[in-house]
Amino acid sequence: MKISDELLQRSSNKCEICGSDQDLDIYKVEPKDQYIVVCNNCKSQLENPNTLDPNHFRCLNETMWSEVPAVQVVAYRLLFQMQGEDWTRELLDMFYFDDDTKKWAEATLQQENDDITHTKDSNGAILNKGDSVTIIKDLEVKGAGFTAKRGTVVKNIALTDNPEQIEGRVNGTRIVLLSKFLKKV
Ligand SMILES: [Zn+2]
Repeated sequence: MKISDELLQRSSNKCEICGSDQDLDIYKVEPKDQYIVVCNNCKSQLENPNTLDPNHFRCLNETMWSEVPAVQVVAYRLLFQMQGEDWTRELLDMFYFDDDTKKWAEATLQQENDDITHTKDSNGAILNKGDSVTIIKDLEVKGAGFTAKRGTVVKNIALTDNPEQIEGRVNGTRIVLLSKFLKKV
């Protein structure tokens, strides 16, 4: 969709979330008819909350202080959805916006939160892309011909479409692991 001159000016031709000037697009901040300028990377993650990459959104510690209510709303929702991270909870504690903007931010959150199925470890802790986990029981890896031993640490995991499965590298092989047999480190 075409980005209006007004939006381009307000955003200085940059993604209003991460500051990138690549592949800009607009994103509607539901349920209001207001838009912000976002890069494609931010946009695709906003549209698929299961794929949120906390490392990409470290920028929120600056974005959250934006004076644009629509940007505050998106920043708040992102932080809210990534509460599995210590730093996001700290930022949420500091978050400041007026009551109307808060209502706007929360308008879609409950529903979105119900829609998101988080990937959780054996203790119910939310797993995010890039986390490290320990395997809590010996797992036979079908097709790979080895057993992933209990106690093995798997670094830099990737999430899959299925919240019950993650991907990680064990014995140099990329395999799918069941999240219920993992513990976040
Ligand atoms: Zn961006």
